[in-house]
Amino acid sequence: MRVYNFAAGPSTLPVSVLEQAQKELLDYQGTGMSIVEMSHRGKPFMAVNAEANQLLRELMNIPDDYSVLFVQGGASQQFAAVPLNLLKNGKADYILTGNFAQKAYEEGLKYGDMAVAGSSKEDKYTYIPDMKSISFRDGIDYVHTTYNNTIYGTRYTELPKTDATLVTDMSSCILSEEVDVKKFGLIYAGAQKNIAPAGLTIVIVRKDLLGNASPICPTMLNYAIQDKNDSLYNTPPCFPIYMSLLVFRWLKNLGGVKAIQQINEQKAAMLYDFIDNSSFYKNKVAKKDRSIMNVPFVSPSEELDAKFVAEATKAGLVSLKGHRVTGGMRASIYNAMPIEGVKALIDFMKKFEMENK
Ligand SMILES: *Cc1c(COP(=O)(O)O)cnc(C)c1O
Repeated sequence: MRVYNFAAGPSTLPVSVLEQAQKELLDYQGTGMSIVEMSHRGKPFMAVNAEANQLLRELMNIPDDYSVLFVQGGASQQFAAVPLNLLKNGKADYILTGNFAQKAYEEGLKYGDMAVAGSSKEDKYTYIPDMKSISFRDGIDYVHTTYNNTIYGTRYTELPKTDATLVTDMSSCILSEEVDVKKFGLIYAGAQKNIAPAGLTIVIVRKDLLGNASPICPTMLNYAIQDKNDSLYNTPPCFPIYMSLLVFRWLKNLGGVKAIQQINEQKAAMLYDFIDNSSFYKNKVAKKDRSIMNVPFVSPSEELDAKFVAEATKAGLVSLKGHRVTGGMRASIYNAMPIEGVKALIDFMKKFEMENK
């Protein structure tokens, strides 16, 4: 039986996509083999790769002067790839809004003169710093941001005020809401949260930023080389790319990002409204900065949190335990989480509150 899976990543995928993958696994379109058993340079896979790339462009309205790269190594690899490719003056500023932002900054320090321009660390990352109060150094090559903070449940609703290249990590929110790609020089995202199984990382980079990689940049991390080779410099992560294509088609059929954003906002509003109207559960994030993808919350005690997670699991609502650094609970309600899943969670929360008040 399928459960409602609130995992932060890898995470739930659309059932229809899983069914299609299952159906095609023994014989992909009459080839007599699965998509993961054939050459990545053969016609069937090349077509998958090209259509996935094209559909992502369409879904996100990515202008022609941007490259879309399908690479490996996860978002964490991009913490190094970004400075290795983008530094020209050798310095960049970072805004720290969570653990992943901190990690990106620490990795960056290996390659350049990096500075923290703003941070909400002192307040346990419960908000996004006010963009008006953040200023940047002169001559920086980029400003690094983390658009949605998976662990703390915050997201940007306003961008840094700077003429420098904006870089953002959208691992946990890519395709969840409309974004204007043109505002960014580079967007990267691990696919395993809102798109596909783990193994694929998406990089969307403005083409004028290509070609300045540091001499020590590993070939595999060099965006210009990946771009020149249509992300087929070496064997790509075939299965996650194929699954991405199925998810992109699913999303397009649904009406695209605009349509899913409405659904996502509806799901998030239902859950936050319920939490805000309860005296039992609490979400500690500043309201204006709340994520529509990751919703952390706590009950009145750690004991009850543990009991909540255990009983929810029994009720078919799984992976609700919060990240180890925050404790409590977290419901990740990515694109593939149906509204029914959020309703079932709220019903369970009501019942648990009544039994434990
Ligand atoms: C999960 C996550 C990462 C780490 O992704 P990997 O693909 O596991 O390296 C980085 N940034 C954000 C915002 C994330 O949610």
